[in-house]
Amino acid sequence: MASSFPSVSELEADARRLFGQVFGGEAPQVAVCAPGRVNLIGEHTDYNQGFVLPMALPLVSVVVGSQTPGQDVTVVTATEDADEPRRVDFSVPSDGSMLCPGLPGWANYVKGVIQHYKAPPVPGFRAVIASSVPLGGGLSSSASLEVALYTFLQQLKPDDGDKVSKALACQQAEHTHAGVPCGIMDQFVSVLGREGHALLIDCRSLEATAIPLADPSLVILITNSNVKHSLTGKAKHRLDDVTYRRARHVIEEIERTAQAAETLKRGAYKEFGKLMVESHNSLRDLYEVSCSELDELVSAAMEVEGVFGSRMTGGGFGGCTVTLMQADAVDRTILHIKERYSGTPTFYVTTPSEGARVLGLS
Ligand code: ADP
Ligand code: MG
Repeated sequence: MASSFPSVSELEADARRLFGQVFGGEAPQVAVCAPGRVNLIGEHTDYNQGFVLPMALPLVSVVVGSQTPGQDVTVVTATEDADEPRRVDFSVPSDGSMLCPGLPGWANYVKGVIQHYKAPPVPGFRAVIASSVPLGGGLSSSASLEVALYTFLQQLKPDDGDKVSKALACQQAEHTHAGVPCGIMDQFVSVLGREGHALLIDCRSLEATAIPLADPSLVILITNSNVKHSLTGKAKHRLDDVTYRRARHVIEEIERTAQAAETLKRGAYKEFGKLMVESHNSLRDLYEVSCSELDELVSAAMEVEGVFGSRMTGGGFGGCTVTLMQADAVDRTILHIKERYSGTPTFYVTTPSEGARVLGLS
């Protein structure tokens, strides 16, 4: 009933096929993937040095490719939602030179990762990207692309293997080349995510605790609103009032996230769900990053028996909601949301998945 998405091996096969088409029948030597993520609770707290509680998704970016002699790089994305052209050619940076961001926009994520790779110089290579993470939907297609590309480079020219510095390098890539001043959550969980676990990340110390989340009686449903509103500053607010509400959200959300991790450890799903709804309300009323579509999706989900909690996830102004429920409630929840939501939603039934990994070439 939920929309299906390609498995990692199907995506890998697609990417390998495209690689063969683009590069004259050649077979890629390396295949890797890195997941997108959904944040269960702890929103807008990562860049405020607080707690977040994301899990890695079975939705991934795959990179397949091969090293080439010389310094030329060719990268092709199979994703139709990426801006044109979907093929880029450039040279790796030689001593001290910078790869400058430019157009197409998607290539900046690739260039940024090459620029910040921890074991330069990066050799020339050819690669194809394929992804099942929706672009710009709040499930972090950007971090999954960065981390997949970094993982690919590690196969060509190994770095020291430190996972936290890998996540930090990918975050730097997004800052300097994509111009997005993001926190560390997305890259961190894309690198360090664990199957069957959510990660409680302390974004100040960069320590993470894996919280088991593999109860078969539980389902984590992601609903994509399929809307994206542009961020518009609202003028004429009294700044002190706005600042107060923003800060209050962050402080309370950090506390809620710590509590939520505790309730999850105890299997107290109802309590966890209540915290999710409180988080949503705070994002709506205090941080003011929700929108009518996300509010609608959350309200609809909360009307269904067996649903523990629901909230917007990701930055806001559109994108996705995440809903925790009894497994047997999933079909009726999807039906009810479809009935109630004025737009066209997409559903993903997900399980906590493994972080970035090398794929065995079949
Ligand atoms: P999110 O990370 O929530 O999906 P962002 O706006 O942070 O949204 O990142 C989306 C951008 O990342 C896309 O516009 C595109 O530039 C880039 N991107 C992500 N995945 C791919 C891909 N498979 N191919 C090309 N570009 C991608
Ligand atoms: Mg992103």
